[in-house]
Amino acid sequence: MIGSEALQERLIEVRRHLHRYPELSGDEVETTSYLRSQLLAAEIRLLELPGVTTGVVAEIGSGEGPLVALRGDIDALPVQEETGLPFASSVQGRMHACGHDFHAASLLGAAYLLKREETTLQGRVRLIFQPSEEKATGAQQLIQAGVLDSVEAVFGLHNKPDLAVGEIGVREGPLMAAADGFRVEVRGRGSHAAVPDAGIDPIVAASHMITALQSIVSRNVSAQDSAVISVTRLNSGHTWNVIPELAHFQGTIRTFQDGVRQKVRQQFEQVIYGVGAAFGVEVAIQWIDGPPPVDNTAEWIPVVQEAVAAAGLQAIIPNVSPASEDFAFYQQHRPGVFIFVGTSGPQEWHHPAFDIDERALAPTATVLASIAHHALKHLAGARVAAEQTSG
Ligand SMILES: [Zn+2]
Ligand SMILES: [Zn+2]
Repeated sequence: MIGSEALQERLIEVRRHLHRYPELSGDEVETTSYLRSQLLAAEIRLLELPGVTTGVVAEIGSGEGPLVALRGDIDALPVQEETGLPFASSVQGRMHACGHDFHAASLLGAAYLLKREETTLQGRVRLIFQPSEEKATGAQQLIQAGVLDSVEAVFGLHNKPDLAVGEIGVREGPLMAAADGFRVEVRGRGSHAAVPDAGIDPIVAASHMITALQSIVSRNVSAQDSAVISVTRLNSGHTWNVIPELAHFQGTIRTFQDGVRQKVRQQFEQVIYGVGAAFGVEVAIQWIDGPPPVDNTAEWIPVVQEAVAAAGLQAIIPNVSPASEDFAFYQQHRPGVFIFVGTSGPQEWHHPAFDIDERALAPTATVLASIAHHALKHLAGARVAAEQTSG
């Protein structure tokens, strides 16, 4: 039996271990074997999914009752840690700078709690320790391998440094953005820098394109909606006295609704091709489709709010985040809710001095377990109601 103090101590140990040995997306080999052995030691059964080599899927409960899933991610980032913590990353240039060590530890804590209460579960809980979130490929890989088979609802979490420990952000509808990438190639005609009229300058054309893109958010997106367009890289030329043939730029678009996403992309193409035609350059646009928006199912919000209250924590309505999360892919297949967990952090996600307040560990495990209990109760209740009306 784990008391809450013992649970907290145990989860600190797990989180610090994971923090010390961060692994990049798709390469979570040691993390996987560590989590597997912790789950097995707690006599929690593991599910083997075809083709899945990193990440762990486990299940608690039995019988014909409903099945819900809890998901946490486990990968780290190519960031050089600057926290100075005694348990800082032992690997050069790699760090748990997004707090996925915290997610994995909290989910393991929820597994301990659910295992302890296994006989009271009104169904089964599938625990998904997902790899490759930062590359936005892990969720799709697991979905293809069948991780959502028989699952009726899916729940996930992300730490939130700007919320206080004890605050749980629960928001209906869009919570995090769709993240699309773009690469634009602008092909002109090279010439001597002193004779620009003999060529077609791709640098001037690309500059006009980038400037014109700035009007999409201000002139084409409704005041009710929001979007971000950022050009993050611009390359052209080799020296001072030659007009080059090519210019490239790339960047990202963030949106919160599918309609806005499509509209911004259309407008983006219109601007690039239109400006390109005006300058007489050839233009090629390459899209890199990222995750859709994280979009929380309205029907499940009251269930999650109730679960948060039952865990003794406070549900608040958080601001939306322009970052993206591949949890959104699960929500394309199943209803579900993604919550933000307050961790009173000193820095935002992906910062070299990112950290979480460990006091959030046991409460987060408790809230995840509570969500699983309440979700199963909700589904079991709906089944009974359906049987009564049909009978
Ligand atoms: Zn991240
Ligand atoms: Zn993250």
